[in-house]
Amino acid sequence: MVDADRQLRWMVDLQLVPRGIDDPLVLEVFRTIDRALFVPPDLHSYAYEDRPLGIGEGQTISQPYMVAIMTQSLLLTGAERVLEIGTGSGYQTAMLAALAREVYTIEVHGPLLERARETLGGMGVANVRYRVGNGRLGWPEEAPFDRILCAAAADVIPPAWFDQLGDPGLLLTPTGGPEGQILTCVTKRGGRLSWREFCPCRFVPLVGG
Ligand code: SAH
Repeated sequence: MVDADRQLRWMVDLQLVPRGIDDPLVLEVFRTIDRALFVPPDLHSYAYEDRPLGIGEGQTISQPYMVAIMTQSLLLTGAERVLEIGTGSGYQTAMLAALAREVYTIEVHGPLLERARETLGGMGVANVRYRVGNGRLGWPEEAPFDRILCAAAADVIPPAWFDQLGDPGLLLTPTGGPEGQILTCVTKRGGRLSWREFCPCRFVPLVGG
């Protein structure tokens, strides 16, 4: 575990800090939550590298920097209810659970969701609710959400997400298709939406029509 601690410190100091991740709480959770727990055993030796890794079902755990920039951009204070679309390995979910009040996470692939639930349960994380399904529909019974975060790219942001976003609220998602994607942040305040484009990115497509 000493080795994991050291590797996590390197990951943070060499991959995150130089690229502008500077929120002390975000850096702390990235130093504390071991990415190797979310990676299949045969890929453990690559767990701290600056890249996505296969997790089964043709999906990947995102690159640490991408998870970090998304986490930091959500401006969490500890009080928020967060909807996450695209649980994947559960790595991003773990960060959200550590920094927000409650996380509602939806994954379209049942086996991935079950593995994420086991991993997070094994870590004692208790403020996450899990659902298998099409995240395009959101989670209407639990809306509104203070934050909505999606880890898969849609050409057009699903309208249900705007309906389920609280006011004030912040929604972060990659948008675009195979020709290029951009990490997009939409804020809702006083009934009005405003858009900001962050950086180019590459995520798997958001499936389902
Ligand atoms: N942050 C995650 C990233 C997972 S990749 C991690 O680091 O592990 C994105 C995930 O979105 C994939 O697991 C994919 O299966 C899921 N996904 C794609 N379309 C979806 C949809 N319509 N509803 C729910 N999940 C979806």
